[in-house]
Amino acid sequence: MASAQFEQGPIRPPSEAYSLLLRVTRNCPWNRCEFCHIYKGQKFSLRTVDEVKKDIDLVHERVSEVKALSWERGMGGEIPPSLVNEIFNHPDRYPEGFRSVALWLYGGGKTVFLQDANSLILKTGDLIDILTYVRERFPSVARITTYARAKTVARKTVEELRDLGRLGLSRIHIGLETGYDRLLDYIQKGVTAREHIQAGRNVKEAGISLSEYVMPGLGGKGMWRQHATETARVLNQIDPDFIRVRTLKVLKTMPLYQKIESGEFVPLTDDEIVMEERLLIQTLEGIHSTFASDHILNLLEEVEGRFPEDKAKMLSVIDRYLALPESERANFRLGRRAGVYRSLDDLSNGELHTQVEMAMDRIELQSPGGLDRAVSDLMESFI
Ligand code: SF4
Repeated sequence: MASAQFEQGPIRPPSEAYSLLLRVTRNCPWNRCEFCHIYKGQKFSLRTVDEVKKDIDLVHERVSEVKALSWERGMGGEIPPSLVNEIFNHPDRYPEGFRSVALWLYGGGKTVFLQDANSLILKTGDLIDILTYVRERFPSVARITTYARAKTVARKTVEELRDLGRLGLSRIHIGLETGYDRLLDYIQKGVTAREHIQAGRNVKEAGISLSEYVMPGLGGKGMWRQHATETARVLNQIDPDFIRVRTLKVLKTMPLYQKIESGEFVPLTDDEIVMEERLLIQTLEGIHSTFASDHILNLLEEVEGRFPEDKAKMLSVIDRYLALPESERANFRLGRRAGVYRSLDDLSNGELHTQVEMAMDRIELQSPGGLDRAVSDLMESFI
């Protein structure tokens, strides 16, 4: 099997699980957000258009190899799950790039995600060259998406963004986190609510789909109310296509951890975060966004839907959870984080419920009052 490897960065949004990851810059040019550890200690660098084009050529080679393997196996060039399994089960034979490409083709081979944290920091002309080349080499690609910092997007003109959109950049994922200026400052996001609104509106005006990420829990005990209401205020002014929530979980490697240790930042409990999310949803008005909880860190995955028609339904899921007795909420929290439950309805499955109850008993026996610690440890394993 060919050994030349194309570069890929560490993360992508959950919705891009089957996208080809194409690295156009390395790491994060800002790298100061207090709740983020992904690129800490890593130096940011731009990649040249030539480097990226070489990677695209390598992906093209891998595509031919994966398809040749499919023909060899009598699969007619198709990539069924059995072939993906074979490739993933033999990493010695099939290197990382081969596996990524197999997964991409299995997912249809139609979507590309540009990495890492802020691809739009590249000059618009360079991005145009890269997008043009992706489409030239892979005419079947229908969607190209990327992460970008609001500060950077706010500096691009609508016309520049429109040019990128015309060449296939169809969605931009922006980490809003919060719309509360004091909190944006506190977590060192390096952007204001006003810039967030400007960036979001530019993207929408350019006809590009927009995903805004919100971080429940980020305000802690001190700022949770303003975090919820100001975030809603900003989102109401942007009206993004998607609002995606990703609950705060602080690891030791994140700067915010020091503030917890010193007592300066007091995290919310799971139930308080749910109440905060309720206030956020309650305050969202006049928008047409799809609300998604598609991250394992979110307790209530089923708080999903489209505004305005599903707002009442989303609130009712939250109210249903909050109305549960304390012991059932604890059972759900552990079961959800242990991967036993997905939705509140799963609580009525006697077998699953007993399984979680027994786990709770074991935790209590080994470490009295240790449920929160156990849930927290499980959450850490997701990051
Ligand atoms: S801009 Fe994004 S990647 Fe960079 S430090 Fe902040 S959250 Fe992390």
